[in-house]
Amino acid sequence: MHEKLFTPGPTEVRAELLQKLSTAQVHHRTEEFSRIYDDIQSNLKKLLYTDNPVLLFSSSSTGAMEAAVTNGVKKRCLNFVNGAFSDRWHTITKKNGVPCDKVDIAWDQPIRPKLVEEKLETGDYDAITVVLNETSTGLMNPIKKIGEVVQKYDEVLFLVDAVSGMAGTKIKVDEWGIDMCLAGVQKAFALPAGLTVASVSEKLLKRAKEVESKSYYFNLPLLHKYHQRSQTRTTPAIPQIFALQKQLDDIVNHEGIENRFARHQEMAEFVQNWALEYFDIYAEEGYWSNTVTCIENNRGVDVERLINELVDKYDIRIANGYGDLKNKAFRIGHMGDLTLADIKGLMATIESILDLSTSNLIL
Ligand SMILES: *Cc1c(COP(=O)(O)O)cnc(C)c1O
Repeated sequence: MHEKLFTPGPTEVRAELLQKLSTAQVHHRTEEFSRIYDDIQSNLKKLLYTDNPVLLFSSSSTGAMEAAVTNGVKKRCLNFVNGAFSDRWHTITKKNGVPCDKVDIAWDQPIRPKLVEEKLETGDYDAITVVLNETSTGLMNPIKKIGEVVQKYDEVLFLVDAVSGMAGTKIKVDEWGIDMCLAGVQKAFALPAGLTVASVSEKLLKRAKEVESKSYYFNLPLLHKYHQRSQTRTTPAIPQIFALQKQLDDIVNHEGIENRFARHQEMAEFVQNWALEYFDIYAEEGYWSNTVTCIENNRGVDVERLINELVDKYDIRIANGYGDLKNKAFRIGHMGDLTLADIKGLMATIESILDLSTSNLIL
């Protein structure tokens, strides 16, 4: 019996996808590899509603976050911070010696387009970073509306961490004017960890040539040069590429992209309604995530014990609150290939552990 993951990444991976990891290796400079690469490309473009190339990084998402700011900033970057991962992006920017400022917003509040407008009006910045779905707080930022603002500023690149949203919620990369949209595949893609995908716009590639990133591994123009040959620049995580190819085929040609997003919406609404009935939701209403809910522990439940009970008795794992929210909240990942039935089962199990019908909590 394995531990079933309802964590907001890594997520539960289907056996068929795990089996793909044991496919015999293909050499990455062969036509066979390029055929797989092209197939992945075509489906990723559909998933992201984009004509931009979607590069593959054999690193976790953090690597692509680093690539974004080391290749995309000539003048100064503005990091919008309303959660742990957007805060990390600011640290990454600073660590790499890229000129930057950050704007701190309360973690239960979204990044509002008006604030973005105010900051861009100064003319100080040529790139901004925003996290689509703050996995630490279950908050989804209004990326489409922010994109409308950014598109008014020709010079400004829109860099988006879509790690826990991509493949679980609709992202229209081209229409929303996203210059780099990145995500590791271990979250809503429901794949084994080890690969990150990122769409890159022409504008970003042009900027990257001017910036001349000092990184050898995360050099976008070089990665793009090999992309044009339907190859990766260095030896990629070949087993994960087999699994990604199958999963994209399943998403695009079997489940259907729209159906996948609708399923995520249904699972999210179920958890949100449950949370409102018994607890509260941490993020501001109207900005609740389609893929992860951060449930505010306003009943003083012993979260650690709840998590341990779920693991020990049911082989199920959910996540504690992130950082300062530890024990003050718990998080349920409702993403990837989980079904509404899985989610209903999970919530019923939690109900059976916590006596929620009365104020007499079992835990
Ligand atoms: C998980 C996560 C990351 C970090 O991803 P790694 O793949 O562990 O590098 C970054 N941003 C968001 C929003 C995440 O959910």
